Amino acid sequence: PAIESKRLRIGMQKSGRLSIESQALLSSCGLKINLREQRLIAHVENMPIDILRVRDDDIPGLVMDGVCDLGIIGENVLEEVSLQRQIDNESADYEVLARLDFGGCRLSIAVPQEEQYQGVSSLEGKTIATTYPRLLTRYLKQQGVNARVVMLTGSVEVAPRAGLADAICDLVSTGATLEANGLKEAEVIYRSKAVLIQRKGLADAQHQKLIAKLMPRIQGVMQANESKYIMLHAPRAKLDEVIALLPGAENPTLLPLAGNNDMVALHVVSSETLFWETMEQLKVLGASSILVLPIEKMME
Ligand code: ATP
Ligand code: MG
Repeated sequence: PAIESKRLRIGMQKSGRLSIESQALLSSCGLKINLREQRLIAHVENMPIDILRVRDDDIPGLVMDGVCDLGIIGENVLEEVSLQRQIDNESADYEVLARLDFGGCRLSIAVPQEEQYQGVSSLEGKTIATTYPRLLTRYLKQQGVNARVVMLTGSVEVAPRAGLADAICDLVSTGATLEANGLKEAEVIYRSKAVLIQRKGLADAQHQKLIAKLMPRIQGVMQANESKYIMLHAPRAKLDEVIALLPGAENPTLLPLAGNNDMVALHVVSSETLFWETMEQLKVLGASSILVLPIEKMME
């Protein structure tokens, strides 16, 4: 289907590390998206929204150029594209609506394991390969280090072995890829998460209204992701001690238990999960039937 200008457009990664969680976030907000379709544009069935499914690199530009109203993108890509567009004198305006709870990673400089790395000055005069030349150049400038930056769009981690560079600057989450390529992490230069962005100067009142409706849902989904519903049976005599162990349980719901006056059922929404250690402490206090349940949605 063609793009309908009246519909709100959201740019999202088509396939990759952000796509599943981006889709899940929108679905949790009540958007019915036909995920089986392999099309560029997916119509949301129950709201006037179109999803543009593209490579993540294209998302910041699509929002900044006004093709998409919203976009879900990693801050690393957003910042890189932003810096590049400023240099090219292209519009680089956007607004961050929410920092999301997925897509966490860090952009790091890595050097060969056998190298005696002694701080950023060790990078002086070296060649560093990266997919993020603008972020790396900015960092090197801040640190006062002169190094040559070479741009590679993929397989950055093999550059040192291939003799293309002395070091690399790439995304890391566990460090396993670095290790497999004989490299070690030397400097973290940027910490990133996925963000929801909006284009600056949105005119359409209908779109504004729709976004104002979506935002509390997004916040609600994220809040629900971190929260748990905790239920347990506690001895009345130890109630204060039990409550003190539960994060955010100032006003729990207390219910009587049929045929047992010494125990009471306690329900609470907690902002954190319960760790095994806490459950064991509750047990010692005489609590039983301890349940920790996920929460799907919440609105305060
Ligand atoms: P595309 O085909 O859309 O261009 P890509 O290969 O550039 O995809 P992915 O590897 O899917 O990108 O990563 C997308 C984003 O996911 C990254 O820019 C980053 O923000 C985030 N991310 C989270 N964890 C990691 C990780 N361990 N490695 C790389 N990216 C990560
Ligand atoms: Mg990409």
